Amino acid sequence: MEFESILLPGVDAKRPLLISGPCSAETEEQVMDTARQLAAHGVKIFRAGVWKPRTKPGGFEGNGVIALPWLKRVKKELGMYIAVEVATAAHVREALAYDVDILWIGARTTANPFAVQEVADALEGMDIPVLIKNPVNPDLDLWIGAVERVYNAGIRRMGVIHRGFSSYDKKIYRNLPQWHIPIELRRQLPTLPIICDPSHIGGRRELIAPLCQQAMDLNFDGLIVESHCNPEKAWSDASQQITPDVLDLIMNTLVIRDTTQSTENLTSLRRQIDELDEGLLELLAKRMRVSREIGTYKKEHNMPILQAQRYDEILQHRVKQAEEIGMDAEFMKTVLVAIHEESVRHQQEIMK
Ligand code: PEP
Ligand code: MN
Repeated sequence: MEFESILLPGVDAKRPLLISGPCSAETEEQVMDTARQLAAHGVKIFRAGVWKPRTKPGGFEGNGVIALPWLKRVKKELGMYIAVEVATAAHVREALAYDVDILWIGARTTANPFAVQEVADALEGMDIPVLIKNPVNPDLDLWIGAVERVYNAGIRRMGVIHRGFSSYDKKIYRNLPQWHIPIELRRQLPTLPIICDPSHIGGRRELIAPLCQQAMDLNFDGLIVESHCNPEKAWSDASQQITPDVLDLIMNTLVIRDTTQSTENLTSLRRQIDELDEGLLELLAKRMRVSREIGTYKKEHNMPILQAQRYDEILQHRVKQAEEIGMDAEFMKTVLVAIHEESVRHQQEIMK
């Protein structure tokens, strides 16, 4: 898949691409007040939920089409682009009828291929930027599958939104970031822009600034941040919304590191890492060869593959050695368990 730029005319090409606005469009006044303040801080793209998928009935489920003229007013009077979540073919038709500029597919919708396909079919023949939020569950293929469905409908201006993943016990985050998932997505689809949603990852205002910084340090392209003229009184996601002034403060304190640096020092350090990794690979291959020899021996002597006591000794001893030279015990255990699993697999092949 090859993607085209989601940058709209007049939107700065520098990182981060910023989208902001309230979780939900509550009233015309709230929409206009929030948008006016954001526009004054230079925000170009306004988000607002019109149809809200809520976990339990009884929560505010959005105003629906009634809110679309308010967004159109934001576009007309303030010159902002407007972005809306769509979950059905009807939402797509209604949003387009009100000249919405950017559509996004929400996390609960991405998790359902039937729903994504319905939205994709409704997009057939359109040319509008579409952003796909990660599914609620940590499944990269499901996320990429949604991107493919929309891509196959002919949409080329695409991006993804990383909003974290649900977990049963919520500790620090509302949705665990699991950064390795968007990082792997970037490896597989390097031309697809990634936008971080710190509001839904954090679930709390205090976490927005550090999450924005982490996303920038990981070279993400943009941020989508929930902002409300009166956050405490918000009808949905009140604890994670910030005022436009606070958003501006966060944006001004973000450190955006240069991605194109390739100083002499860095090049030589990277070369060292490459060499070390090669050494690691060779050592692992050698270890597997020895392990296969042990497998042959065990087979000839009719011994079982797993010698639990020996395995336990290795694990304990190596973890201790690792700690003595300054490495983390948990990390070492993860590595050793993975190596052991692979050794067992080699020996199983021999036993067959
Ligand atoms: C939202 O952006 O308001 C929203 C509902 O997010 P998500 O789909 O990530 O839960
Ligand atoms: Mn929200």
